[in-house]
Amino acid sequence: MDLFDQEDKRLSLKPVKEFADLVRNAFGDGRCTCVLCRDGGAGPAPKKPQHTLDLDGTLVCRRFAITAYSDVRGALSKAWESYYKTTLPDQGLVDMDAITVLVGDDALPRLLLLLLEAGVVAKNDEQELLFAAES
Ligand SMILES: [Zn+2]
Repeated sequence: MDLFDQEDKRLSLKPVKEFADLVRNAFGDGRCTCVLCRDGGAGPAPKKPQHTLDLDGTLVCRRFAITAYSDVRGALSKAWESYYKTTLPDQGLVDMDAITVLVGDDALPRLLLLLLEAGVVAKNDEQELLFAAES
């Protein structure tokens, strides 16, 4: 039996695909053009949460409608459960390699940005990634 065949099948599970789609669609191209960010808006662009972000040197805008903590944490835990047949940890160190398997290596920069911006993971003082509770 070929291990890679097995893995490919698990990647086509619906929750895994939905999480990969979320990661792919979480950010739009270019600066945020919402009313808060547009020139002549109601003041300076909000700093936190950030609307416009730097993704490997390219400016992207976060799609807030689909990237709340509960959206991202929910989609990740469903994908995790169907792929690994175990519950996503609530706390502790994040196994980024294991999460990256769900979306593919090329999506890693987006994945990391999404998990941090949605507050699903946070960096500690040692720059390690830990699962975070909703703030
Ligand atoms: Zn904005």
